[in-house]
Amino acid sequence: MPDHHHNPLLDDSPLPAFADIRAEHVLPAIEQALAQARATLAAVLGASAAPSWATLVEPMEALGERLDRVWSPVRHLHAVLDSPALREAYGACLPLLSAFHTELAQNKALYAAYRSFAASPAYDALDAPRRRVVDNALRDFRLGGVALAGAQRERYAAIQTRLSDLASRFSNNVLDATQAWSLTVADEAALAGVPESALAAARQRASAAGERGLRLTLDLPCYLPVMAHADDPALRQRLYEAYVTRASDLGPDAGRFDNGPLLEEILALRQEKAELLGFANYACYSLQRKMARSTDEVLEFLRNLAARSHAVAQAELDELGRFVNQEHGIDTLAAWDLAYYSEKLERRRFDISQEDLRPYFPVQRVIRGMFDIVERLFAIRIRDRANVATWHRDVSFHEITDADGTMLGALYLDPFARSGKRGGAWMDVCRTRMRRSGELQTPVAYLSCNFTPPVGERPAIITHDEVSTLFHEFGHGLHHLLTQVDIPSIAGIAGVEWDAVELPSQFLENWCYEPEALALISAHHETGAALPASLLERLRAARNFQCGMQMLRQVEFALFDFRLHIEYRPGLDVLALLEDVRDEVAVLRPPEFNRFPHAFSHIFAGGYGAGYYSYKWAEVLSSDAYSRFEESGVFDRAAGADFRREILARGGGRGALACFVAFRGREPAIAALLRHSGIEPPLEANAA
Ligand code: ZN
Repeated sequence: MPDHHHNPLLDDSPLPAFADIRAEHVLPAIEQALAQARATLAAVLGASAAPSWATLVEPMEALGERLDRVWSPVRHLHAVLDSPALREAYGACLPLLSAFHTELAQNKALYAAYRSFAASPAYDALDAPRRRVVDNALRDFRLGGVALAGAQRERYAAIQTRLSDLASRFSNNVLDATQAWSLTVADEAALAGVPESALAAARQRASAAGERGLRLTLDLPCYLPVMAHADDPALRQRLYEAYVTRASDLGPDAGRFDNGPLLEEILALRQEKAELLGFANYACYSLQRKMARSTDEVLEFLRNLAARSHAVAQAELDELGRFVNQEHGIDTLAAWDLAYYSEKLERRRFDISQEDLRPYFPVQRVIRGMFDIVERLFAIRIRDRANVATWHRDVSFHEITDADGTMLGALYLDPFARSGKRGGAWMDVCRTRMRRSGELQTPVAYLSCNFTPPVGERPAIITHDEVSTLFHEFGHGLHHLLTQVDIPSIAGIAGVEWDAVELPSQFLENWCYEPEALALISAHHETGAALPASLLERLRAARNFQCGMQMLRQVEFALFDFRLHIEYRPGLDVLALLEDVRDEVAVLRPPEFNRFPHAFSHIFAGGYGAGYYSYKWAEVLSSDAYSRFEESGVFDRAAGADFRREILARGGGRGALACFVAFRGREPAIAALLRHSGIEPPLEANAA
């Protein structure tokens, strides 16, 4: 496409022109943006004056922001509205971007300029967040291989390019494997036990595919209700086998999307990269951008959690075993029985199921209620704005202002599952807060979920688990949107230590269990009735159902990830290591054909390599932060204002530990997490 054609990705508009972006715009836009970035870099390096904030750091920050402005909508569309053409264009850009980032990270002249600036009096005169920008840059140069020369340097660059390609292929395989499998059932009787909401969605999927009957898939909104409710064990087994062998050498699509060789290569390259940079292993390398100080500290943290949770988890499993034995005459629980009988047991004990709650959570009510909650908590205003161009008719757009009307930021909300959209839920950055030629650019976020869409005339209604997911992602969103830092590399979630990033997200989840907050987010979709008090009580009582088993499951994943990146040697048997981790911490053993690592995108295709422990690490922070609200009231204005000012507004401008201490008045402690997880008794019980 000739250069003079208009390319919406290169527009300097406040929001991406989603209505106009086409796959053919992607490569030319990235090529042009990269050329521009290289020209800026040359100008910065060519400047004759001694490097200063204005001549060095500012233009480099702007360069990064400019590039991400172009790339962010592409990355986003690839995730939410993928097509073969877009995937190809996206894939074509990855090596170009990766090469440029390596070039930047390894630029000796640029590194020298930062070092010389850091050694000058001008650096000492900077405020703390600005000094942090420079310190982070120096750290990233070192981690980016700036000290490497000759063949090592080339090898490092090749590893980076290859790793970024492997990550992309890994997640494509998971997506493709998930979508390749489906099962159409002609007779509804085969799905006995499955709730009506899931049946309706399955009918709708079948008719969309031009089939009769009901179509089952491996997407979570379909998979989870079938596993928890379908009475037919053979059907559950069939889905389970397909699900846990996705993208592997086994199962119905054995070998077709196999991530086995990819994950081996990723591990080998990560180890090689860490060694090139002078680290013993990739876990040590990964900790350079984290709050945890050493691999031992992380291992000890995880093993401590496992030890403290083990007895509770074992008791839960024993209880489940007794229950199925006494009530259903079953001696051994198969892997595909767990969710099903756990649901039955939960219903017995608490007389509650996710499906009972669903009618009370129409998605639009939940979203508005969630906005009301954070308006009260953080003294902000959120209003809907129509007529903003988006990528899909389901997407809404919302603006956030301060109590005095000052614009703070905006978000796109894309709630529903559809084909071509990656699974799960996440927040991503569209625009970051910064000053651009004197003008303040406010941040914009994308919030993406995979809720079951409305069926026919009925509005979309979601489970309480899904409500919790929405709150989680919105917590990330607020961290990005309520930042008061206007330097891109430390604004919002940027520059925040990886193992502290989940603080605001897990923090916000707590509100979906608070009666006062539930009143704002729930209303029966037909009658408008509030969530009945009895149901609310049962929901709260059931919150910690099987919490020990859940804790151990997360610790198992985290310990597996972390040990994998410490102990990796060529020829390491990944599945054997996972078994070893289970020997150490698990109370449950999945069947041998389970290929969990092959779809573990968090660590192989996301940013969580040697960092999955971050969820639990940050949960110590989020639980302890929330305990202040338990003490002073869940809508306590002072606590809300402090959280906004000391944590959300600071972004990566100050270390996570310092932010926490400023908010809580002391260092974090693990007690609140153990209490909230039901591992240790609640405060009331302590007092009694
Ligand atoms: Zn998160």
